[in-house]
Amino acid sequence: MSNNDYQKEQLETLVEVSRHLETISLSEKQQLKAMTADYLSFRKDVESFQSEYFGEICTQKCYESKLSACCSREGIITFFADVVINVLLSEKQEIEALMTVLQKPNNGSKCVYLGQNGCMWHLKPIVCEMFLCDQAQKTVFGEKPGTETIWEELKQRKKQYTWPDRIVLFDTLEHYFLNAGYSSPLMYMHNSPGLLRVKKLAQIK
Ligand code: SF4
Repeated sequence: MSNNDYQKEQLETLVEVSRHLETISLSEKQQLKAMTADYLSFRKDVESFQSEYFGEICTQKCYESKLSACCSREGIITFFADVVINVLLSEKQEIEALMTVLQKPNNGSKCVYLGQNGCMWHLKPIVCEMFLCDQAQKTVFGEKPGTETIWEELKQRKKQYTWPDRIVLFDTLEHYFLNAGYSSPLMYMHNSPGLLRVKKLAQIK
């Protein structure tokens, strides 16, 4: 997929989600937010773990050297639910900034969402949050006993929201928007052959 196609897909989904969330009642919006509460608490735990054990090494090895390897990939995977949750949490200006950047050409080798102050998402996509480069993992897991186990536990917890061998938030949010008449190529719970197979085996509709 070209950069253009990627950005178009991202922009269309962002516009669609934002428009819908602007039209629904406050109570419906509150219900959606309540659905994400448990997931957000999981995200806080991941963030605390990352900042406690990886903050220093990531700053030294990556950001200060301007390598920023985590965000050097073009076209990172964003789930539809990532977009929904981010819009629910964002201020209007934050969404507008994302829309603006998605309409500019991105010829560089970095993620389109990487701004001057880091990631422009209010809550970055789950794929980014769960990314630790091999070098950082090797150093931290080698030096701090027990950290690898905690990380593995967090990876398992992530599945409770994203792996559709049961009813998961990421699938539920797609259902909600599909029922409201929207669809998006980012609805991987409904269009990824691998994830559809997982759902079929678990008899999840
Ligand atoms: S979305 Fe944010 S965290 Fe993820 S690669 Fe892009 S800039 Fe980095």
